[in-house]
Amino acid sequence: CGIVGYAGRRPSAAAESHEHGALDVVMEGLRRLEYRGYDSAGVAVLTDAGIESRKKSGKLANLTAELAAAPLPAATTGIGHTRWATHGGPTDENAHPHLADDGRLAVIHNGIIENFAELKAELLETGAVFISETDTEVAAALLASVYRGEGGGDLAVSMQLACRRLEGAFTLLAIHADSPDVVVAARRNSPLVVGLGDGENFLGSDVSGFIDFTRRAVELGQDQIVTITPELVEITDFYGNPAQGTEFKVDWDA
Ligand code: GLU
Repeated sequence: CGIVGYAGRRPSAAAESHEHGALDVVMEGLRRLEYRGYDSAGVAVLTDAGIESRKKSGKLANLTAELAAAPLPAATTGIGHTRWATHGGPTDENAHPHLADDGRLAVIHNGIIENFAELKAELLETGAVFISETDTEVAAALLASVYRGEGGGDLAVSMQLACRRLEGAFTLLAIHADSPDVVVAARRNSPLVVGLGDGENFLGSDVSGFIDFTRRAVELGQDQIVTITPELVEITDFYGNPAQGTEFKVDWDA
């Protein structure tokens, strides 16, 4: 339902104010996106030690309590999601992020993967294990399988290949332990906006996800993939051809 992504350098600046970098940016974005409604929330951060994730059904306050009980390490890359359940009830297990590739890949998703049942059957045959009832976990497992196969360990290329097999409506964000400082995202029939910062970049299901941090935004077009790092924003179509979004300035008061 609500999506936020961040690739930047905030921890050192934030250390003095007792903040936690990527996590604070992502949590702030999720708070701003609460107006959309949701039944669960979750976050994942990427550090040198890999990916760590926390997720909880219910209000953001439940996730905040979980983060207080089991703090995440300081990080400069993170993703966050508020879920409005369509496939599987609003449980902790069904909340996003969904992990795959032995916990080295984390995926969040807005929308519905229409062909998830046939993809799930196919992935089960190759040994994939599912712990949730969501269509999203199928997308995560597909991305992991492509990443280990024809995607050659390139997250953006793997996202392109995976998206070509997905039907329905989706905004997908992925981080992988092998790609520090990188968030890769894709969209089809579901919105995705990039926020342009200085030494940091943002992703949101709408500009509310990063309105506290930047007013410069790029709206992605249909069937596009974007890779963000602290310094770069690179957009392609699902076949790797360079593409462009539409840049605009957010001029409303937050
Ligand atoms: N279909 C996904 C699920 O049920 C995503 C729902 C959403 O857009 O929040 O988990």
